[in-house]
Amino acid sequence: MKKIDGDPIVGDPVHPIYTFALAWIDQQGQPDRTSVCKMYAQEQSDAQLNSIGKELVQELAKVRDVREDLMSFEVSSPKYETWMLEWFCHATIDDGRSDQEFLRSFSRYVSRYAHMQDWPPSEDFVTLMGAEDYWRWSGEKGQGDPPCRCEICTEQGVVRINH
Ligand SMILES: [Zn+2]
Repeated sequence: MKKIDGDPIVGDPVHPIYTFALAWIDQQGQPDRTSVCKMYAQEQSDAQLNSIGKELVQELAKVRDVREDLMSFEVSSPKYETWMLEWFCHATIDDGRSDQEFLRSFSRYVSRYAHMQDWPPSEDFVTLMGAEDYWRWSGEKGQGDPPCRCEICTEQGVVRINH
């Protein structure tokens, strides 16, 4: 069993989450940076991570209108978790569990971090971005019952809970 912060995650599958830190020089010559987290069903090889990082660089270079050759990325070693935070949303790998099983799993995830949602944040703070309020949980675009299994989620092989 994998352990996180000393607490065993009982009964829930964990998946590797990699953080890609991207840095670049913008058109005004100023340094800028962002990071992107990605969860995968299985661990990725160095070659896979390298090609994912290069794709992210290409996408971001277009979006930010900067030169690819002025961009670089670093990828972290994986962190193992049951759910991954997105913008007012959490996602996990769709491994065939039922809606109820995903909701129970997310409930366990939330209860592991609910105690650290006060301000100011502690050093090892993990934000739930409002998911600690169970009434916020919803399906696609903030409507309907969670979890979201829309076309995008299905294509990406994940389920999401918006909040
Ligand atoms: Zn969806």
